[in-house]
Amino acid sequence: MRGLCPGPLDDGSVLVRAGAGEWARYYTARLSALKRKTNLNLASSGAQPTVVPRSGHPISRSAISANALRVLYRLKEGGYQAFLVGGSVRDLLLGLQPKDFDIATNASPDEVRALFRNCRLIGRRFRLAHVYFGNEIVEVATFRAAHQWQPEERDEDEWHAADPAAQRVLDARGRILRDNVYGTIEEDVWRRDFTANALYYNIEDFSVWDFVGGVEDVAARRLRLIGDPVTRYHEDPVRMLRAIRFAAKLGFSIETHTEEPIRELAYLLTHVPAARLFDETLKLFLSGFGCEALRLLQHYGLLEHLFPQAGALLKRAPHGAEAQLLQAGLANTDARVAADKPVTPTFLFAVLFYGPVAERARQLQENGQPESLALFNACEEIVRTQQSRVSIPRRFTLPMREMFTLQPRFRRREGKKALSLLSHPRFRAAYDLLLLRAQVGAEEAEIAKWWTEVQTASAAERETMVKSGNGPGHSPGTRRPRRRRRRRRPSSASP
Ligand code: ATP
Ligand code: MG
Repeated sequence: MRGLCPGPLDDGSVLVRAGAGEWARYYTARLSALKRKTNLNLASSGAQPTVVPRSGHPISRSAISANALRVLYRLKEGGYQAFLVGGSVRDLLLGLQPKDFDIATNASPDEVRALFRNCRLIGRRFRLAHVYFGNEIVEVATFRAAHQWQPEERDEDEWHAADPAAQRVLDARGRILRDNVYGTIEEDVWRRDFTANALYYNIEDFSVWDFVGGVEDVAARRLRLIGDPVTRYHEDPVRMLRAIRFAAKLGFSIETHTEEPIRELAYLLTHVPAARLFDETLKLFLSGFGCEALRLLQHYGLLEHLFPQAGALLKRAPHGAEAQLLQAGLANTDARVAADKPVTPTFLFAVLFYGPVAERARQLQENGQPESLALFNACEEIVRTQQSRVSIPRRFTLPMREMFTLQPRFRRREGKKALSLLSHPRFRAAYDLLLLRAQVGAEEAEIAKWWTEVQTASAAERETMVKSGNGPGHSPGTRRPRRRRRRRRPSSASP
């Protein structure tokens, strides 16, 4: 059942299986009509869109979530404009399954709420409507206007209400703090980040509206910021991370003007709230393309502003065991996402901090601290300095610290006490880190093998293993000789 959707699915959905090239050619032929300027101007909000009719693009309603369609149709029946927008249109053009379906409309948040019983308004900064369908939430945003940003020198770090009527708040660096003024679709388009993210699928006639050349950029697999890149990065430095994320996720190139200022402006990330950077970090590293994201973050000099210690270590020793462990850990996470297995931030931060923690722990050990304590203290120090950049909740840093401090215990394999580690709540996570350490030569492979085997061994085999400190196939006879304590000789016996 498709609920409120009137009429059959679009006929074109079968026909338009042609590759991206075909619809891109169709579009490009009509693009000249737009008289597109090479330097898109934020102030040019009166621009007319290029309208790509249903026959000119491959987006079929069968690929759109039934709930998103319900919302689109309900808005339309209520007399409002309703568009699918953002990443979902981009992904549908690419033939990918969108993560979520965002909707833009000229209905105000209150008008949206009046249309849906299952709707809640959220957000202080931006008021958005969330329409609930069981587990699925369809986000409905009212078109917003963005005025051209005027750089201005101010003494205070943050200032308010440059334009009170617009309820738009910038800080001294031009970063948008609050932007809550509603507008038209012609205005809404200019506040979006990349041209590929600024396409609107109109439920009225299933056409795609393109004000900024986004269809062409999607076809060319290219990320292009709307407006002047330097201004747009100052407004919101997270856009630099979003460029990396979409480049890594979609395999898009970053267009020259969009990429050029990144290295120089990377420092702006230090002005972004650490909690927001935590969210962005998870999106970068836990979405199945973490290895590529890391490579790009390093390439554009962004990593050192997010994770200064890890960034510095990777620069110093790009092929060292620590760098290899991070890469292997991210590759692991990417493979798990590809296999639809769950991934955890705790593991991610353990591999991101492994190098700095191991390095600092070695120094502390040289100063006389026992290994476990050195690992504990090193982890505390690294996490503390990290929090001002990317704030990581304690529910992730505490188990991560245990993953580190348990590592020395893996070396103890003799006696029943060794087995108690198996029932430690953090055993599995610590064991995963052990495997990575063994893989890069930071721990003996034999130790990792023993802990792999002991987990599936029978009770009798385990008995043998803890006696010998060896695998299940080894007889107690192969047991390593215990190191005897040397008895102290009476002082009179010394020479
Ligand atoms: P994803 O596939 O990761 O969901 P997305 O493009 O949908 O990608 P969202 O973070 O869901 O990204 O944002 C939805 C849309 O809102 C974007 O496509 C973009 O148009 C706009 N947007 C989001 N963040 C920003 C930003 N920082 N600056 C400008 N526009 C933004
Ligand atoms: Mg999205």
